[in-house]
Amino acid sequence: MATPLEAWRDTLKELGVMGLVRPEIAEPVPVQALPGPEPRVPRPQPEPLRPAAAGRGPAYAPPSDPLGCPPEEAVAGSTSLADLEAAIRGCLKCALGPGRLNFVFGEGDPKAGLMFIGEGPGRDEDLQGRPFVGKAGELLDKMIGAIGLSRQEVYIANVVKCRPPDNRTPMPEEAAACLGYLRRQIELIQPKVIVTLGATPLRELVGLKEGITKVRGQWKRIETGGRSIPVMPTFHPAYVLRQYTQDVRRAVWSDLKAAKEEMEQINRPGGG
Ligand code: SF4
Ligand code: URA
Repeated sequence: MATPLEAWRDTLKELGVMGLVRPEIAEPVPVQALPGPEPRVPRPQPEPLRPAAAGRGPAYAPPSDPLGCPPEEAVAGSTSLADLEAAIRGCLKCALGPGRLNFVFGEGDPKAGLMFIGEGPGRDEDLQGRPFVGKAGELLDKMIGAIGLSRQEVYIANVVKCRPPDNRTPMPEEAAACLGYLRRQIELIQPKVIVTLGATPLRELVGLKEGITKVRGQWKRIETGGRSIPVMPTFHPAYVLRQYTQDVRRAVWSDLKAAKEEMEQINRPGGG
């Protein structure tokens, strides 16, 4: 059963006025989380984005206030994940912001050695405000369990923090608007190894345009915050669910095993 809020949102979506759903309605930002005193001027209302016509309609105009468009200094100056989340959870910097029910920051061990990065929230994630909690998330949990770890021992985040309409791939400009947040998350967590799930994080974070089938299982690296971090690209769990063959499952397991072994190797004294 859809809650009244979901039903309302679905109706607005059908009418093509999704962009009018103000996130504050679903998600009040705690007062103590706001950076500095709130200006009393009304925030500029972004143009509504028709979900089906994204890219064809009027260009999205982000607001300019520090809540809707967190300044880079607030992001760079955050010293903990909680700090960062408080600084960015009111973000409306790209066209995905006005359509979300919940901001999906990411979760897990803030000191995790292994970090998983997906594409962006789907419906379940948008409803719960947590990453990978739907069908793909169930499988991700199993994949993590298969290498002897639990969800609580790793960190899970996405390229974009707000749900793209109809679960489409985030547009390059949306990913670009959000990427600084993910980079700061990585800098604060300092994972030893990153596993990218599917083509989107590989393209947006690592800058690789090759198909995931071709590059999965091959070590890549990203440079962020003065550190170089090994990246293991693997299939997205949603793809594994669609292609539930032994070959695909075996490939993912071998990629995750390699990632865990690399993390343990780095953790050994003198391991780097
Ligand atoms: Fe801001 Fe990222 Fe959400 Fe776009 S997807 S509104 S950049 S938090
Ligand atoms: N797919 C993703 O890429 N991320 C999620 O959080 C859920 C599904």
